[in-house]
Amino acid sequence: MADIINLLPENIANQIAAGEVIQRPASAVKELLENAVDAGATEIKLFVNDAGKALIQVIDNGKGMSETDARMSFERHATSKIKNIDDLFHIKTMGFRGEALASIAGVSQVELKTKKQGETIGTFIEIENSVVLSQEPVATNEGTNISMKNLFFNVPARRNFLKSNASELKHIVDEFIRVAIAFPNIFFSLTSNGQEVFHLEKSSLKQRLIQILGNNYNANLVSVKEETDYLNIYGFVGKPDTARKTRGDQYFFVNNRFIKSAYLNHAVMNAFSDMIAKDSFPMYTLFIDLDPSRLDINVHPTKQEIKFEDEKIIYAFVQSAVKHALAQYSVMPALDFELDASIQHNEAVSQPFTADKQNAAAGTSLYKTFTQKNQAHFINNKSDLEHWNVFPEIKNAVKEKAENNLLQNENKNANTLSSFAKEIHQAKTNKKPSSEEFIQIHKTFIIAENENGFIIIHQQNAHERILYERFANAMKGKPIAVQRSLFPVTIEVTPADAVLLNELIDDLNLLGYHVEPFGNNTFVIQGSPGDVPDGNEKASLEKMLEQFKHFSMDINFSKREKLLRSMAWQQSVKAGIFLNEKEIKSLVEDLFACEISNTTPNGKPVFLEFKKDELDKMFGR
Ligand code: ADP
Ligand code: MG
Repeated sequence: MADIINLLPENIANQIAAGEVIQRPASAVKELLENAVDAGATEIKLFVNDAGKALIQVIDNGKGMSETDARMSFERHATSKIKNIDDLFHIKTMGFRGEALASIAGVSQVELKTKKQGETIGTFIEIENSVVLSQEPVATNEGTNISMKNLFFNVPARRNFLKSNASELKHIVDEFIRVAIAFPNIFFSLTSNGQEVFHLEKSSLKQRLIQILGNNYNANLVSVKEETDYLNIYGFVGKPDTARKTRGDQYFFVNNRFIKSAYLNHAVMNAFSDMIAKDSFPMYTLFIDLDPSRLDINVHPTKQEIKFEDEKIIYAFVQSAVKHALAQYSVMPALDFELDASIQHNEAVSQPFTADKQNAAAGTSLYKTFTQKNQAHFINNKSDLEHWNVFPEIKNAVKEKAENNLLQNENKNANTLSSFAKEIHQAKTNKKPSSEEFIQIHKTFIIAENENGFIIIHQQNAHERILYERFANAMKGKPIAVQRSLFPVTIEVTPADAVLLNELIDDLNLLGYHVEPFGNNTFVIQGSPGDVPDGNEKASLEKMLEQFKHFSMDINFSKREKLLRSMAWQQSVKAGIFLNEKEIKSLVEDLFACEISNTTPNGKPVFLEFKKDELDKMFGR
């Protein structure tokens, strides 16, 4: 009986393999762009005709190939990027499978011109259906110029399978954008049918994003940046009010490789949770860099998926980093204050309490990794993880409650303020916690038992109220602790700001900022509030000023009142900051020692009460 097994001819094997790697013009675009990036190019130009069906050409100024390498590059499993299996776990390049050029040569007509840096003559290769038609020396620029014509000319079934030009071009643009965002320090251009569609000069990530996503993101990007020994996260998220009704500008890059991950997307959405409408999508571009040995990129070249050693850790980090960024920029209060992002990006804004307390906090939490470079495994600390997703049901109830409370407050505002204050004072005394056991959840809320049931305190709202009253008392002659600057700092401001600062100088003095005019728009800071960490007085005063100027102008408050409010807001501990036991205790104590404890100066609720008998009812008891 005759044997029946054949070895497939190479060109057919390549065509079959190509089906995996090159599904459409956009996949070829991705492979060619990534090869140029891997070659160290600083300039990469992409040309397509007929949405890549007629021509895809990439010209780079990278390291080029020798004559032998140029020929070799089209062999299947020919790669310069890994040598053995161990290398697979230390991949720093985009490619490593050595399949792309072989596949491309299997399904199109390819012309390659390449020259190594410093050589005088380059190599030209023409290859079609995996067959080399010609190879000769050629005069060409340093780098590589590769064009592939008539994709799938020899596989009509696949060619017919391609979508309309508009649709294929859209896929190409998507791939182009992903690579261009991942490498802002490389020049990229995309020319379609002779028309330059993108021209992206090398720039910062922020500039690149604005170039690509549009100018309206200019003032609406919140920087995310957290460094730990386990991984680094950086990038930008759009401010909540730029969230759109359609999913779109959402990008994750792991070690600069674009990935899709519903799981990590969930982490970001969680961080945004109460800040955006349920069915809207915030912009995000997040880069996660970690040791390549902690992930397996060998899933599939086109699947855009990735396996992490420990997905949960990454999830936790992503969520925290985004939350932290949003809290730091205090996008939430910005809704009230309309502050510039740059103003809010201030260390003083995110400092919890005093330096002492901050140190105490630093010893116990995530806060540590995010402010000091530190080991990451602490995150296995169960209590940290467990708090991240507790009580989703309660959240809704709280929302309802908050809405009711706001309504009630509005009604009450119709009465005179003083009777309102009295009422609150009364309410306060019986709402006060009855035990000293508090829990912080979502690094934002503090739960405390009281006689009637329990209350949920919003930490930032509470702290704003406490500081506001403290500052107001300071104005009335109850001095704020001042630390005198060991080395008085001078601050130079614009002429307009100098006028403003001169006007505020007396009030600032009462609030702990000892500032003296020094002539020529210059001031000397002799002392600052005890709460402002040493060395930060200048920045914090500058931000203070900026904030004052930006403080919602349509509110008819006195200068002094505005100053009080912006200062209280600025120095308050933000949502998203872990508080230790001691901090929580003093926060709650200080809150209930306030004249008014259940609203912020701007009328937001500070805490919500859940009555035990209502809870009983809810549980059918
Ligand atoms: P991979 O990128 O996975 O190594 P490819 O088939 O894409 O496989 O490319 C094969 C090899 O050809 C690469 O490893 C690289 O050495 C070389 N090569 C491909 N494109 C370029 C380029 N634009 N510049 C320099 N070398 C290139
Ligand atoms: Mg490649």
